[in-house]
This record gives sequence, C-alpha cells and structure tokens, in this order.
Amino acid sequence: MRLPCPVCGERDLREFSCVGGAEILDRPDPEAADAAWDAYLHLRENAPGEARDLFYHEAGCASWLVVTRNRTTHEILGVELARDVKAKA
Ligand SMILES: [Zn+2]
Repeated sequence: MRLPCPVCGERDLREFSCVGGAEILDRPDPEAADAAWDAYLHLRENAPGEARDLFYHEAGCASWLVVTRNRTTHEILGVELARDVKAKA
C-alpha cells in the first residue's frame, strides 16, 4: 500500500506511523468538563465508511498528515497536512 504525502509524493506505507483517528486534533480546552475529556480519551466510533486518521511521515519529511480512507475498502480518499486541517477549523 502507498500513501500520497503532500510534500514527498507517493511513498510506501512503511515510511509512516499511524497514531489513530484524526479527532485527536480536536482536543478539549484544558478547563473542559470531565465528560468532555472522557469522550475525547475513551469514546471511539468504528463504523464502516469514511474515516480520518492521523499519520506521521517518520521516514520522510516528518510531516503530520490527515488521511481520509474508507474503513471497508481501505481506499485512500485524500491526504492533507495536519497544519492545514487545523488552520481550517
Ligand atoms: Zn512526506
């Protein structure tokens, strides 16, 4: 499997580390209620369909990437730099 890094181009998946769902970028405010932190830390959906995961290009440009993929087919639907995703939020 290959991932299209926006900086390096298409590279082997083994160059990347996946750290989990991209919702990790939506961290609650430090003063948020315990329920918000509980949901952030422990509650995950694993429904079929589109998913956004956070990858690190460890053996490449060291960029953090948000990869959108289909959980059922594993088709890659898009790759963006995480900094650009955060800037849009
Ligand atoms: Zn890269």
